Order: sequence, then structure tokens, then C-alpha cells
Amino acid sequence: MLAILRKIAQAVSQQPDLTSALETFVSLVKESMKTQCCSVYFADYNQENFVLMATKGLNPNAVGKFRIGFTEGLVGLVAQREEPLNLAFAQDHPRFIYSPDVDEDNYNAFLAVPIVHQKKILGVIVIQQNLARVFSQDEESFLITLSAQLASQLAHAEISEILKQDEKAHQTSCLKGASGAPGIAIGEAFVVMPKLSFANFELKKTDLEVSSNLEQIKLFRQAVAATRNEFSIMSQELSDTLPNEALAVFQVYQQLLDAKSLGQKVEKEIKQGWCAKSALKRVIESLIGQFMSMQDNYIKERAIDVQDIGIRVLHHIVDTEHALKTYPDNMILVTDVLTPTMLAQVPKDKLMGIISISGGSNSHASILTKALGIPAVWGVTDLPLLQVDGKEMIIDAYASKVYISPSNILKQEYSQFKKQEGILHDQFESEYQLDACTLDGEHIQLLLNAGLEVSTELTNAHFSDGVGLYRTEAWFMQKSQFPTQLEQENWYREVLTSYHPSPVIMRTLDIGGDKVLSYFDIEEENPFLGWRGIRFSLDHPELFLEQLKAMLKANAGLGNLKILLPMVTNVTEVEEAQRLLKQAYFELEDEWADQFYKIEQPEVGVMLEVPSSIFLLPEWAKKVDFCSVGSNDLTQYLLAVDRTNSQVAELFDPYHPSVLRALNQIAQSCMKYELPFSLCGELAADPEGAILLVAMGYRSLSMNPSSINKVKWVLRRLKITDMEELLQSCLSQPSAIKVHRIIRNFIISHGLSQLLYKVKEA
Ligand code: PEP
Ligand code: MG
Repeated sequence: MLAILRKIAQAVSQQPDLTSALETFVSLVKESMKTQCCSVYFADYNQENFVLMATKGLNPNAVGKFRIGFTEGLVGLVAQREEPLNLAFAQDHPRFIYSPDVDEDNYNAFLAVPIVHQKKILGVIVIQQNLARVFSQDEESFLITLSAQLASQLAHAEISEILKQDEKAHQTSCLKGASGAPGIAIGEAFVVMPKLSFANFELKKTDLEVSSNLEQIKLFRQAVAATRNEFSIMSQELSDTLPNEALAVFQVYQQLLDAKSLGQKVEKEIKQGWCAKSALKRVIESLIGQFMSMQDNYIKERAIDVQDIGIRVLHHIVDTEHALKTYPDNMILVTDVLTPTMLAQVPKDKLMGIISISGGSNSHASILTKALGIPAVWGVTDLPLLQVDGKEMIIDAYASKVYISPSNILKQEYSQFKKQEGILHDQFESEYQLDACTLDGEHIQLLLNAGLEVSTELTNAHFSDGVGLYRTEAWFMQKSQFPTQLEQENWYREVLTSYHPSPVIMRTLDIGGDKVLSYFDIEEENPFLGWRGIRFSLDHPELFLEQLKAMLKANAGLGNLKILLPMVTNVTEVEEAQRLLKQAYFELEDEWADQFYKIEQPEVGVMLEVPSSIFLLPEWAKKVDFCSVGSNDLTQYLLAVDRTNSQVAELFDPYHPSVLRALNQIAQSCMKYELPFSLCGELAADPEGAILLVAMGYRSLSMNPSSINKVKWVLRRLKITDMEELLQSCLSQPSAIKVHRIIRNFIISHGLSQLLYKVKEA
């Protein structure tokens, strides 16, 4: 069964367009399920009906013409119920509608399953047969599996097709994702693919001109030559360490690259009009398919070699293409997975916006874009990467939307909106020197989250009351090995000096999860529940002590350092960390006995970001000097939603009543136990979140540099008593949707509706 499924999926993926993908699909399903008819209907949401898109067994002339309403017939019923329908006599069913145009009179048995992608019905697959019989459970589950497996592939193909049609008709396409940094960006798409795989790009034809075919052949041959060279170097380097039999694998690789095997096939595809990458994809996928279908396990495993070689050649093609490309002045970076390194490579003055196909808006890469103030949309899963390269785009990160090839009217509307956004931004900025004081006179300490992008942060240094979270790991991530104690000391001193005399809360290394060091590989099934933060530091006291000593030395003579421990889940971790801090302090005290500045013992705090830590507040009050709530991770762990997973991005909502109640409980307990507390997650950077937090009793909020003026501006226009009333109402709501609605009404009724950006649908 698995082999048939794979064969169908692969054959569909090899097709250049939706029509041939669906034709291939219906033929193969009909053949493999040994029925007489297979058809696919697609939902047309504009006309609210299903259209017959492909068939093997019904009247082929009805394809593209025959339509049936969303609530009509058996097809409509399957979609309405969102479940399969398996009938021996379809015509006896009360919902059956006789349609002479499709020629289905001879069929009795009917099995249909819905095609569902991201909760949305894309269409319905139907198989039919003369013989009046109920299809077996096995047949039913095969069709369900097939439909589930192919839903995203079909969605992709459908969107590619819509983009092509829209382009011909000069129409705008719109896709939805999840918002990261808010804002509007208008620019040209620049596609970067960090993780190359044949699966993540779609096929593309060249313009069929002979000259462009020759260029593609040249590109391919250069890539093959570079790959050959790579293999020779590798085999030479390994010749001392590997036995001859193992080295023979490189010869096999070189043979596979030979013009007669791979080369000829790829060049033939290029001559048929495919671009070099697509030609390579078609040949490699077909070779893999052939290898996989062999009985012999040894030959089967060679599919991995073919895949490996293909990816290496692909890398060289893409590298050459990139080297030839220049960054557009108003670049919208479009990528599969955004990495901090990728951001570091692109020129910031040209970068207008970011679109990432995977990832969630609370990932660390997303937090980095917020710190930079670059509008971003995440999880635009169906965006066909290659097809959008070089296209005009608009990002509306307020509405989490991406417009491709926008119309002039839409561009004008968004340009206007961007202007208004700029005016509002200037209003926020005009009050940066004023006190963050509510209308009823309460000062709220506004601190910076820093460490991710040093240049921006330092220019904002004087806007804030200090640094509430310095993420030290971001700097570690830019290195090629663990930095030495001296390097760290110099770095930390620079940071502490820049903000002096304001406090700087430095967090010890919080790697793990989505923060990886290139020089220290951690492979885990569940990285967010794994070796992260304090767990890693305590398992590597030699590294932890280096970091602590560097911090203590950097603080000598300054005295504005506070140390924060990440991912704390139990008391023993904190005791152990404090023991190591004492050790670092005493060792340095001896070493520094004759220095002018003395080593001081800084205050130590814990991050409250794992649910268990909330219940340990009485213990924390005795053991540490302060605590800081990490609402990003607290939301992730309370709601069991991976903050980086676009599939569940909609469920990540810090306004969920459970999260709000937990945050409120933390504030109440901290006040009861007289433990100083603040919050440094992204919630504090949302004016709505800041309002609720202040109402709960938080008087210290730490946020990304680009949000601080906005939050200050809002807090200066409200009274705590009004915020408290709002909070009470939010805390009693059963769902996040209701909480959002109430806050929205509050914002409008307090004359702050300019915060609720919205561009009219074009
Ligand atoms: C948090 O979890 O809220 C936090 C501030 O830490 P980070 O986002 O770096 O995990
Ligand atoms: Mg965290």
C-alpha cells in the first residue's frame, strides 16, 4: 500500500501544472483501486460550488464545466459532513442528483472522501463502479490516506495555478499566515532557500527559448563540475582515515554524475523546456522512485546516495544563481525558514519585510525581526517559493496577509496607510523623553529586551529605564566556537557600560529549543522539552563558570549587573546555580585581591516561564532577589503549543484566559511574598498586553526596542482604575476571542482607535 501511495504522490509532484497533476492522480487512483471511475471536484468559494476538475470514467467534456452547489448532491453532502460516503446504490440516496452531462448512469457503487487542508475543504475525490457493492474498509481508508497525503500537494498546485492565472489577468493574489513584527511593507520578493530539498520547490519551465535552454545546460554542467571537485577533495581528505572499500563510494558517486547517467537525462529535460533545477528534480525524483521500488534492500538504500548527489548539485546551481542576483532596493525577503544568519547577510537598509513559509510568530527569529522593527508574516505554508521570486509584493503584517502582484489601487491604498503609520510612529517617538506615567500618576518602569541586534538597541538605550532582559545566547550564536572568558568579559563590559548606571539584567546562556549553536550540535526529538537553558549550563559547569566569571569581572567598578537564570523548573537547579556563582565569586575575589575595583555579588533572579515555577513562588521569595516572567515560553508550555510550529500558530495566544489567569496569579503571589517581579515576554510589547499587565500589578515591563515608545504613549493616556476594570472583565472570559473583543472595545472607547490598524479590503 505504502509503495502505491508513494508512487502516486511522486507522479503527481512531477507534473508541471494543476491540470496534469489531477489527470495523473485520477488515472493512477482508478488503476490502483481497480475501479471504473475516479473523479476530483474542487471547491470554488467565489461561486459556492464544486467544479469537476479531472475524471477518468465520467464524460471528459464535462471537466471544467460541470458544477454542483456546495449544499447539493452527494458531493455537497460529503463536504458538508466532512466525512466519507460509501454507498452500494448511489442513485437510491435521497441526496443523489441526476446529471445527464456527466454520464454516470452506469455506475452504482460510490465512495467519496473530502480533501481537507488546514481545516478548509478543498474538494472531493469520488470513485465509482458498475457493481453495486459497498467498498471495503481497506479501500475506504486507502482513499482517506491518499486524500490526506495529497491535500497539501494539491493546495500547493492549486495556489500555483491561481498565481499563474492572476498574473495573466493582472490580478492580485492574497495568502494568509501569522503575524510577527507588525507593519506594512511594499517591495520586491527576493527568495532565499536555506534548507534545500527537492520537495520544497515547485517545477518551473523556462521560456522555451533555445538560448535560455543553453544557459540552463551551462548552469547545470558547472554545478556538476563543482560537485565532482567536491567529491575529489573529500575523498583525498579521507584517504588516510577510511579503508579503500569505503572510499570506493566516491567512485560510485562520480559514476552517477557521469554524463551518461545523470547528465544526459537532465539535459534532455532542459531541452524540453525545464529550468536546470526543475530538470534535476524530475530526474532525481524519478531515479529515487525506481530505486525504492526494487526488492533488493541494498539497491533500495542507494536511493539515499542519489538524493545526496542531487542535493549537492542543486546547491551549486542555487549558489551560482544567487551570486548573479543583486539585492533589490526594497527587498522583501522570502524564505522557507528564516535564520538569524540569513538576516545578518542581507543589507538592512534594503530590507523592507520578511515572509517565512514555516515557523511561528513567537520563534526567536521572529522576535529578532520585531527587535529590528521589520514587518514579517510567518507560516505562509502554501506560498510557491520559486514562482514569487522577483514579484512585487505587499506585506500587511497587521492582518497577517501577503499580496502578490498587487494592483495599483491596492498599492496606493497601502502607500497611504504606510504614511499614516509613519505619522503615528512620529507621534509615539515625540514623547520618548517623557515619563512612562499613567493618567493617575503611576510610574511604569519600561526596560529593553536586548542582545539580539546590538546596533539598534544602543541607539534606543536612552529611551528606557535599563535592560530587563539581555539574551546572551544570541551573541554566542554568531561565534564559531564558545567564546573565551576574556572575550565574554569585554563584550559584557561594553554592554554594561552602554546602559550604565541603569540596570542590565543579563540572562545566562539559554540555548536549546530553536536556538542552536553551529559548533555544539544538539539533536533532540523534542527540543523545547529537552536540554535547554539552565539544564545545559548545569551539565556544563566549566562553560557556566566561564560565563559567570566573565559577567562578574565585567561588572567590577560598574555595579549595574543582575543575573537571570532561564528555564528554571525546580529549586535544586537554582541552588546548584547559586553554588556555582558563589564559587566563581570566591575564586575571583582571591584573584582580584589587589585590583582597584572589587568583585561584587550581583542580585540573582529566575525566569518564570515553565508552569511548575509558578507554584514555587514561596520558595523563590526565600531564595532569589527577583523574578521575571517569560510569557513567550509560559504560553508555549501552558497551552502545549510549540512556539515555532506554523501548523499550530493560531493556538499560540497569550490572551488565552488560562495564560492571563496564570499571569495574574504570579503578580498576586509576588506581591504577597514581596518578591520584585517584572515581565519580559513579547506580551509586554503589545499595548493591549501592557494594559492588562499593569492592571495586574506589574510595574516593570521589558520589551523589544521598537515597541517601547508606543507602549509608553498608550500608558500615558490611561488610568490604572480603568485598566483594572478591563482586566476583571477579561479574566472572567471563557476564550481568547472574547478577551480580544473586549480589549478592542476598551481601546475604541478610550479614544485610542488609531492603534487598531486596518486597510479596507481591496
Ligand atoms: C520568554 O520566554 O518569554 C522569554 C523572554 O525568553 P525567550 O523568548 O528568549 O525564550
Ligand atoms: Mg524563554
